[in-house]
Amino acid sequence: MYPQVKMYIDGQWVDGSEGKSEPVLNPATGQPIGSVPHASRADLDRALESARKGFETWRKTSADTRYKTLRKAADIIRSRAADIGKIMTLEQGKPAVEGAGEAMLAGDIMDWCGEEARRAYGRVIPPRAGNVAQLVIKEPVGPVAAFTPWNFPINQAVRKISPALAAGCSIIVKGPEETPASCMELVRAYADAGVPPGVVNLVFGVPAEVSAYLIPHPVIRKISFTGSTPVGKHLAAMAGQHMKRMTMELGGHAPAIVFDDADVDAAVKILASNKFRNAGQVCVAPTRFMVQDAVYDTFVEKFTAFAKALKVGDGLQKDTRMGPLANMRRVEAMETLTADAVQRGATVRTGGKRIGNEGFFFEPTVLTDVPQEARIMSEEPFGPIAPIARFSSYDDVIKEANRLPFGLAAYAYTRSAKTAASLGADVESGMVSINHHGLALPEVPFGGIKDSGQGSEGGLEILEAYLTPKFVTQANI
Ligand code: NAD
Repeated sequence: MYPQVKMYIDGQWVDGSEGKSEPVLNPATGQPIGSVPHASRADLDRALESARKGFETWRKTSADTRYKTLRKAADIIRSRAADIGKIMTLEQGKPAVEGAGEAMLAGDIMDWCGEEARRAYGRVIPPRAGNVAQLVIKEPVGPVAAFTPWNFPINQAVRKISPALAAGCSIIVKGPEETPASCMELVRAYADAGVPPGVVNLVFGVPAEVSAYLIPHPVIRKISFTGSTPVGKHLAAMAGQHMKRMTMELGGHAPAIVFDDADVDAAVKILASNKFRNAGQVCVAPTRFMVQDAVYDTFVEKFTAFAKALKVGDGLQKDTRMGPLANMRRVEAMETLTADAVQRGATVRTGGKRIGNEGFFFEPTVLTDVPQEARIMSEEPFGPIAPIARFSSYDDVIKEANRLPFGLAAYAYTRSAKTAASLGADVESGMVSINHHGLALPEVPFGGIKDSGQGSEGGLEILEAYLTPKFVTQANI
């Protein structure tokens, strides 16, 4: 059932020319299910030449054709969503229904970007002299190098490939080696929709080697990366050194604030299901829970009951609500963060341990009385651990919410319109969601500030990142 993974270069599905590959593991068993080819230097050179040629073709393709092609790719990926969901479970671990949902959302993002392609308007600027015409034209920035991670193997890639294609750019995606097949199925949807050879290319390899070669390369004009903040800073420095445009979607540490006047049941249900979704391996997962005095005990009790009741298992089982972590690194990280918090005085309300010794399962975990010095209060856990702390005043909680260098997502629950309005202004974050979980729709901006990155991968802004303004002024003489 797990497909043979290939790279896609210049319209051909290929293996690495030097025959190198690495195994792909099923995180539910820890056992190999297939392998992913590695690109050689010669393969990367072919991908670069292919993207250069692909850009020449695609930039001259009409916006209407780009729109229709993306709409077709959207229909194709939706029609394959159920099968892709199962493939994603095998390599990434999440419940198959979530993988299928990710493929369906990819269709919506393709639709949105395709539609925006037809609205990539320039403008006419009123001249100072009557015989002058001043135009601003939006041009595609050029061939793109994109690096995408394993937590949402389709969603993180579709938010780069679709706007690049909509804008008229070509792209080389270095996909996630741990979860390559679902990313390959995404690329197959564009290919089957008629995207010409060279416009989309997919490679795999040793991430540091591929990025060190592609980013400085003169063919590449734009970099886009989703992953951890340290890697993002490293790639951004390289992009800066070579004066390449960039988009960086990096880590977060989302505050989740529950005020005394909140609907506590709704807060527990929405926050807990989003905390444990994808086993917590989500950059916008609610992370530092801060609950006001009067509702603290009730919130902790109900949140802990939710975590205890969560059915953890193989994502292919119908009743599974949380799958394994994607790899052993995450299990070890959960063990280290829990041990550190406990050693500093935290109380484990539930969970805290690896489940069994087969696969990469970890218990949904709730910690209270976690001191601010504990690592989990400052480091992104990227896993199913929820530290819950108590607060008394609005000013204190805002100070804590803004304490870290991250600023990706923030959540709050309150029935007060005044508190909600103040939160929207006071929390330093790229996205603030109040009384619901309303992020990541194709039509709304998605991105962080501070160490959480640069640029946006949603809304009107999604296409802007791949366009560059050209000013043309012409006098009639
Ligand atoms: P990591 O820092 O080694 O890698 C993160 C991602 O960056 C991976 O996809 C990896 O292939 C890629 N990468 C690493 N070095 C690279 C390089 N030199 N050039 C190009 N790509 C490179 O960590 P990891 O163990 O894979 O993931 C752990 C951490 O990464 C998590 O704790 C989380 O903070 C972060 N992460 C964030 C997201 C996100 O959605 N923002 C996704 C995945 C991982």
